[in-house]
Amino acid sequence: MSARPGQFSAQVLRREELSSHLVRIVLGGLTDFTSTGVPDEWVGLVVPGQFQSRYYTVRSWDGAEMVLDVVVHDEGLVTTWAQTECVGDEVTISEPKGSFALPDDAGWVHLVGDLTALPAMARIAEEVGGPVRIWAETEEVSGYFGDGAAVTWIPTEHGSRLAALVETIEWPDGPGYFWMAGESAQMREIRRYVRRSLGWGSDRHDLMGYWSSTRARQVRAVDPGPLYARGKAAGKSDEEIWAEYDELRAGQ
Ligand SMILES: Cc1cc2nc3c(=O)[nH]c(=O)nc-3n(C[C@H](O)[C@H](O)[C@H](O)COP(=O)(O)OP(=O)(O)OC[C@H]3O[C@@H](n4cnc5c(N)ncnc54)[C@H](O)[C@@H]3O)c2cc1C
Repeated sequence: MSARPGQFSAQVLRREELSSHLVRIVLGGLTDFTSTGVPDEWVGLVVPGQFQSRYYTVRSWDGAEMVLDVVVHDEGLVTTWAQTECVGDEVTISEPKGSFALPDDAGWVHLVGDLTALPAMARIAEEVGGPVRIWAETEEVSGYFGDGAAVTWIPTEHGSRLAALVETIEWPDGPGYFWMAGESAQMREIRRYVRRSLGWGSDRHDLMGYWSSTRARQVRAVDPGPLYARGKAAGKSDEEIWAEYDELRAGQ
């Protein structure tokens, strides 16, 4: 698959099931990729036959292989693809971005998140020195964090309760940093709590909505899936299909 500027083609080298809901995808062939070095960095991922991207954290990048850990939920573009035998598939990755910004004077780091936040929390814990505490709202994924990581696993049966959890945390004395990601409505509630009740400025916390429980997948007026399939069947290049898609969308 050819890629546009700011995008990178990659091949799936390996696929491994880490748990019943978490699949590890290892990508190779990313010759021009440069990491931001920010430990919660993410990329947009476009899987075969799709034009819409979904964001995934770069769990690790060693200069040759990129590891993405994909949560498999009920339905979804990447969810469906990640459950197939995708080794050998070509995918597209966008430029990485990151937002974790640890202040120099932080004496502690607290990380809270659901299953989708495990990759970022694990990478942050590995790359940040000093005391890091983690609350993971999910069944335990055995061996996911390194030995000695201070992790509290919180299985949940009735949807995310991260907002309630955060209100029970006893924060250490002195300046620190709080990073958190998960379901968007929970994040909005927590953002209010952190700003109003704890009175922290944005330099002391980073809260990200990673997905929405209320937003169904949008059906686009120009559905890229069939357009791609038709284009390929007609022998068109990816560039020609991209151009056709852009024109159709511009004319909507
Ligand atoms: C910066 C950033 C980093 C992220 N990093 C990761 C990561 O490392 N690993 C990871 O798995 N996800 C990560 N996510 C979340 C991921 O992008 C979304 O969950 C995405 O919607 C999954 O795409 P999909 O194609 O499987 O489902 P979609 O086609 O987007 O959605 C289909 C349906 O599933 C629902 N849904 C979407 N996500 C979830 C979920 N997690 N649990 C339950 N229902 C859901 C939607 O509400 C929708 O109804 C990240 C998101 C952001 C913004």
